[in-house]
Amino acid sequence: MADQGKRVRFLSGVQPSGRLHLGNYFGALKQHIALQDEGEAFYFIANYHAMTTVQDPKALAQATVDVALDYLALGLDPRKAVFFRQSDVPEVPELAWVLSCVTGKGLLDRATSYKDKVARGITPSMGLYAYPVLMAADILIYRSNVVPVGEDQVQHIEMTRDMAAAFNATYREIFPIPAHRLDAGAKVPGLDGQKMSKSYGNTIEIFEEGNDLRKKVMSIVTDSTPLEAPKDPDKCNVFALYRLVASAGEVAEMAGRYRAGGFGYGDAKKALLEKISACFGPFREERKRLAREPAYAEGVLAEGGARARAEAQATMRLVREAAGLPPMPAAAAGAARRG
Ligand code: AMP
Repeated sequence: MADQGKRVRFLSGVQPSGRLHLGNYFGALKQHIALQDEGEAFYFIANYHAMTTVQDPKALAQATVDVALDYLALGLDPRKAVFFRQSDVPEVPELAWVLSCVTGKGLLDRATSYKDKVARGITPSMGLYAYPVLMAADILIYRSNVVPVGEDQVQHIEMTRDMAAAFNATYREIFPIPAHRLDAGAKVPGLDGQKMSKSYGNTIEIFEEGNDLRKKVMSIVTDSTPLEAPKDPDKCNVFALYRLVASAGEVAEMAGRYRAGGFGYGDAKKALLEKISACFGPFREERKRLAREPAYAEGVLAEGGARARAEAQATMRLVREAAGLPPMPAAAAGAARRG
């Protein structure tokens, strides 16, 4: 790793809490895949995090496989990025405990994502409350520099910075202070105009196709401006999605049609539907092919998990020493090396 010491390290994760949607793609996966050529990329499937909302073991296991297939089909290259399951690195919850001991409760009390989730009826478990600490551990254990995420995660990265600084000040400087990185799709709206999210039931899945996809696109909520009247593209959910999947020229042309009048939301939806199919159609066959060969994805994740775990253990040796904890017993460390 010494020759790569100066490369930026990217780290990000996606929860396996259902099929991935356009918000995940334009807020996260798209940039994750692009960044694998720009530095050292570590991407994980956040199955510990998903346990805050998914408590059906079969559903969790299936969603984990689905996220792996989605990433691989969309272009994640395991020769470039370390791709793994969060639960293959049990040192992460250990670091989360260490961080929680230098983190004021008030910091977590201010987490808006926790308040939103509880307001939506998700059980306010300790896991849900401590979610940002586990996320900080994920980021810091690989001593990551940049975390590419959607807007909803920015506060969590700020909290991670606070936790890293608190650890460094209490013990010694081990963690770089990470920064977030937002992309064009930082906040993708769902069918109803709220943030696209599995828990709002307003998603368009990346690999949705045929009639299911058509029905969803046609159900996007619009206002009641009559067909002949001019419309403001910037206030329309259909247009907000169109601008993610169409070229700059196509977006400008569509904006002109909105403003000119005589162009209905139904026409805009049809254009959006075509563009979504054009954008993701080419990846559908690849995903089906990968799904027929489950051993391939499993092999990628197992190898990525071993690489990630070796990095995590190197960090935890420093953390344990700094905090006055004994080294990890040799048997446990050896078992990880054999894995
Ligand atoms: P999650 O499924 O909550 O683990 O989110 C995975 C990634 O997708 C995170 O980087 C989120 O910021 C991003 N993301 C999720 N929903 C949206 C959305 N509606 N718009 C933009 N990014 C999103």
